[in-house]
Amino acid sequence: MRLCAVSVDLDEIPNYFQIHGLALDSSAALGAVYDVAVDRLEAMARDAALPLTLFAIGADLARPEAAAKLRAALDRGHEIANHSLDHRYDLTRLDRAEIARQIAEGADAIARAVGERPVGFRAPGYTINDAVYDVLGELGVAYDSSVFPCPAYWGAKTAAIAWIAARGRRSRSIVDTPSVLTAPTRPYRVGTPYWKRGDGILELPIQVTRGPRLPVIGTYLTWWGADVARRLVRGCVGEPLVNLELHGIDVLDAGDGLEALRKNQRDVRVPKEKKLEALHAAFELLRREGYSFVTLREAAARF
Ligand SMILES: [Zn+2]
Repeated sequence: MRLCAVSVDLDEIPNYFQIHGLALDSSAALGAVYDVAVDRLEAMARDAALPLTLFAIGADLARPEAAAKLRAALDRGHEIANHSLDHRYDLTRLDRAEIARQIAEGADAIARAVGERPVGFRAPGYTINDAVYDVLGELGVAYDSSVFPCPAYWGAKTAAIAWIAARGRRSRSIVDTPSVLTAPTRPYRVGTPYWKRGDGILELPIQVTRGPRLPVIGTYLTWWGADVARRLVRGCVGEPLVNLELHGIDVLDAGDGLEALRKNQRDVRVPKEKKLEALHAAFELLRREGYSFVTLREAAARF
């Protein structure tokens, strides 16, 4: 089996100010993900003839324009999945009732916006724990895709939070336990603790390469251009599922009203054309290697 699912977390621009511990700059295009990126992502998907799985944050759908964009995407065959109500980076530190509210009301907001209930979930910031899985089980969620067993990413994120703190700011990001780095890299049923196999929810881990488990996500696929993107993807050819996770910001650049992020969010310095070229190089290689492109919901049904 060779399946590839391309999913996109539609984290709206204010989240990036929060990650860097910056005050919100109202001159920035704060709705650029729904206003600009979604159309660009759909054009990319059309060119590459692949379906997307779009992870939406419930609160963003209070904007009618955002809800309409999402509904149109569903009508065109893309899957809409749940990325929680408010994208609380500290979801795992909330009490159980608030965790349940964040997940259930995220799904409610999506159902109201697009007319169909999501079946998949992704936690904010790849940070999840057993309590979140318990709630997902109670709510009858079909799959989760949050586990990112990637030492290089974990180290970089830990360093970034410390770097931001050293400058007197406080990032809203938190890191998962390092035990997650021992989690399976292929789809598995979670046990307790969740980085071990069991008979719980189906987890579709975020993609890493074989061997050194390098990160195969949009940030790194777009940062160094097409050659590095191909090399990263080649490191996972042969896996039964290649779970490529992107963010809306991966198809935006500073020219999209994001000058205010240029200093801290370095990937907005890469021109959007170069980012899209790198993503297409990754998709092309996978197709040449015999991969079929599916939504995460379809992938989940096969595992
Ligand atoms: Zn997110």
